[in-house]
Amino acid sequence: MQARHFINGEWLHGEGWVDSLDPATGEVLGAFAEGGEQQARAAVDAASLAFNTPQWAQNPRLRQQVMLAWAAALEPRREKLAHLLTRENGKPLAQSQGEVGGALSEILYYAGLTRHTPGAAMEVAPGEFSTMFREPAGVAGLIIPWNAPGVLLIRALAPALAAGCATVVKPAPQTALFNAAVMAPLLEQKALPPGVVNLFMESGHAGAAHLVASPKVDVLSFTGSTATGTRIMQDAAPTMKKLSLELGGKSCCLVFEDADIDAIAPKLAAAATIISGQQCTAARRVLVQASRLEQMKAALSAALKALPLGHGLDAATRIGPLIDRHARDQVGARIQEAQDSCDQVLLAGGIPDDAGLADGAFLTPSLIHHRDSGAFFCQEEIFGPLLVLEAFEDEADAVARANHTDFGLSASVWTNHGARALRVARALRDGTVWINDHNKLFAEAETGGYRKSGLGRLHGYDALLDFTELKHVYQSVGTV
Ligand code: NAD
Repeated sequence: MQARHFINGEWLHGEGWVDSLDPATGEVLGAFAEGGEQQARAAVDAASLAFNTPQWAQNPRLRQQVMLAWAAALEPRREKLAHLLTRENGKPLAQSQGEVGGALSEILYYAGLTRHTPGAAMEVAPGEFSTMFREPAGVAGLIIPWNAPGVLLIRALAPALAAGCATVVKPAPQTALFNAAVMAPLLEQKALPPGVVNLFMESGHAGAAHLVASPKVDVLSFTGSTATGTRIMQDAAPTMKKLSLELGGKSCCLVFEDADIDAIAPKLAAAATIISGQQCTAARRVLVQASRLEQMKAALSAALKALPLGHGLDAATRIGPLIDRHARDQVGARIQEAQDSCDQVLLAGGIPDDAGLADGAFLTPSLIHHRDSGAFFCQEEIFGPLLVLEAFEDEADAVARANHTDFGLSASVWTNHGARALRVARALRDGTVWINDHNKLFAEAETGGYRKSGLGRLHGYDALLDFTELKHVYQSVGTV
């Protein structure tokens, strides 16, 4: 299997090939074309030219037709794509199937919105009109991560296309084959004008850095870590481009004493180990009311221990490998440091003994208990299967502990007390709060971060607005 660059309507070879590996076995799955600044520059030039023709930017019906045809072409490939996602990313097949289904649904959602970008017209004084036009922002550069490369590609590319932007996509090297396979039926459409969608891949980040720095890129959408997002914000500053940054998180789950601890512990365990803990919104800290701490310790340890580790294509698997062995070693070392310095280790995770998993990037989950929410493992995003359990006294203490973080991506509140659930949800400084659930994300519902979790929103109508500019046109026509 090979993935090539697609620039200005043509599939192109690159500067050699880079292998893509199955993180569960280390097996080579295929290769993607190497690229870098040269490909990024060519792609931006092509997109810039394409944007300046009215054929795309001013033709919402064409945009809708292209997106609907793309979704129709993907539909029969769902299962194949889900398998490829599991092979390249490692996540359990059921998670891949859910992701491919969600991505498809999101293309349809934005295909509908292509025909709904209204402005406004006002008579500001007798015979004087101010008209507000919602216009596509221009060329959009999209840097896509590897952890959910289906949904996270679509939630940036689909609103950019719906708005009428021309685009350059740079997938993560770890999941380049999957991203190229999802985009192929879009790129091959005759109705898609050349240069409107470009794709290049690279193992380094010179091409991505070009997207950030180029004055020809008007909007830059990045999903990744807060450290890289900060660097991007600095490097983009001289061009004043619009930024959409979806960054790291440290999700808290606040569990009140009226909740059914034994029933929710398996849900919290699943929320913590989704994509092996490599999801920005994964549960990281469980804050439980002090009277239920001991019960939660036992229930969560048991729930995490019960999750089978294995290859994502094995139907029994609930936790697959991390994205690669480098990530396993880095994240594993940080989890070990957390275990060495916490108040109590409840479940000691690490590299599994199982010889059958020896070639993969596996880590078994860890659970620790700690009192001080200032500890590095309560503050830092550790992108793997580590869950920290803390206790709180009352509502105010729960909210203060949960808000004691630089992040603000997501949280969940677990209680049967309806008024308390809403009160606490409103007090949390997070872009998303779930009540008696976790990790529920929808095409229709905006997601994004407060504070260091990012800028702007993806999903929903607001994501489309992030790829537009608002123009005021004034005209005095007099009165009859
Ligand atoms: P990362 O920050 O390491 O990003 C890697 C990507 O950044 C690569 O594609 C690389 O090409 C690019 N890059 C690196 N340096 C660059 C530079 N100077 N200029 C431009 N691009 C550059 O993140 P990761 O490890 O790939 O992803 C994991 C992170 O993503 C976690 O922090 C996670 O929370 C976050 N994430 C956030 C969301 C969200 O919706 N908020 C969703 C998924 C993942």
